[in-house]
Amino acid sequence: MRNEEAIWAMVEAHAPDLIGLSDRVWGMPETLYDEYRSCAEHTAMLREKGFRVSEGVAGIPTAVMGEAGEGGPLIAILGEYDALPGLSQVAGVDYPQELEPGGNGHGCGHNLLGSAALLAATALKDWLAATGTPGRVRYYGCPAEEGGAAKTFMVRAGAFAGVDAAITWHPDCMTRVDDALSLANTRMDFTFSGRAAHAAASPHLGRSALDAVELTSVGVNYLREHVPQDARIHYAYLETGGTAPNVVQARAKVRYSIRALRLADMLAIVERVKDVARGAALMTGTTVEMKVFSAVSNMLGNGVMERVMQSALDELGGVAFDAIDRDYAARIQATLSEADLTQPYHRVGMVPRNDEPLCDYVVGLYPQGEVMIGSTDVADVSWAVPLVQVLAATHAIGTPAHSWQITAQGKAPAAHKGMAHAAKAMARCAEKLFKDHGLLRQAQAEHAERLAREPYICPIPDDVQPPLVPRASN
Ligand SMILES: [Zn+2]
Repeated sequence: MRNEEAIWAMVEAHAPDLIGLSDRVWGMPETLYDEYRSCAEHTAMLREKGFRVSEGVAGIPTAVMGEAGEGGPLIAILGEYDALPGLSQVAGVDYPQELEPGGNGHGCGHNLLGSAALLAATALKDWLAATGTPGRVRYYGCPAEEGGAAKTFMVRAGAFAGVDAAITWHPDCMTRVDDALSLANTRMDFTFSGRAAHAAASPHLGRSALDAVELTSVGVNYLREHVPQDARIHYAYLETGGTAPNVVQARAKVRYSIRALRLADMLAIVERVKDVARGAALMTGTTVEMKVFSAVSNMLGNGVMERVMQSALDELGGVAFDAIDRDYAARIQATLSEADLTQPYHRVGMVPRNDEPLCDYVVGLYPQGEVMIGSTDVADVSWAVPLVQVLAATHAIGTPAHSWQITAQGKAPAAHKGMAHAAKAMARCAEKLFKDHGLLRQAQAEHAERLAREPYICPIPDDVQPPLVPRASN
């Protein structure tokens, strides 16, 4: 038996238990720091598999950590288990049908994400013990990736201190090494306070908070021309000060999401948007309160880690889907638009195909495709330690992120296969690092060099705490 086959057999031995965990977490979709049941499921599995468990990581009750092994380097495997609001969906069908009206759903596949990460960590625990290799593996169960930036808070609290390298993955429609492009993102609210007045009888006594929100939008719209091209600034009105036009609006609130490809650029744009809001307050005679409630950095790639992961993927090959998997994926594809179906190919610089419901191959490293990017809190861990993220095919090509189609496919046999595949890639990548400390040192040197050029500044201000949710009493 070749070495890589040994670690893969260890993944396969635990796969049924972890697939069970994934399906259970799919069935209890919880969001934004309210992942009590999902976290309890992960905690119980860590104990069952013999990890040393730490609960309440970084003061977050729905974050958990499990460690195994002794001495040697410490490799972290990152998992998530949070769901999305409003994406409740019956599993295994090809039409939208809520499972629970208005309920949450695993529309980003984090049920698979956390379970595969724990599966990889469990196989590595067995491998370290079986081979007597000095080294430790640590599974991080991270909540609130969707809008909660839990990992950024965990980094700020020092939860990754002592970790030599980190590995994670995300469910996808293609199997490849993630090219580490994501936007730094600050989410903040501006609340303006003015003075109410009768808009006809005494408008001169009023100071309009709604005017201030509108002037902020005007100022930001002029600002757009003078920020780096990749920056994104979007906003939503949270409070408009009421529905009566004959009352000067005394209070209004707007939420901004400010993104850029570089952390330093984003932090600079945040300061400029704050100046625009101050200017709007000055113009309108109102006051403004500005509050960041969540922020993440951009991803920092690590060439050494990416090459190690690619070699693991190349050994492993693509996911072995069968005719039943392809049939269901084709039925899902029938619900998608032409743009949905071609986008994944454009993303990796391939010619779109229409005879391929599932990806059963491995895309090469750094495909030259169109850049289409969002934001993730995995990025802040990538500033703390060398990190690589792998993507594994778990759903039909073209399935949009955060959709009912992702929830529907989240318990399908194809999803289970992709999940076990991701665990094998992560476990094999970690095995290579445990066996060759030179690679780890190279990865760390590359990381240190990046940080020397561009230091990390936590994008969440010191006085902002995660919006923790108390455990429900029932
Ligand atoms: Zn996600």
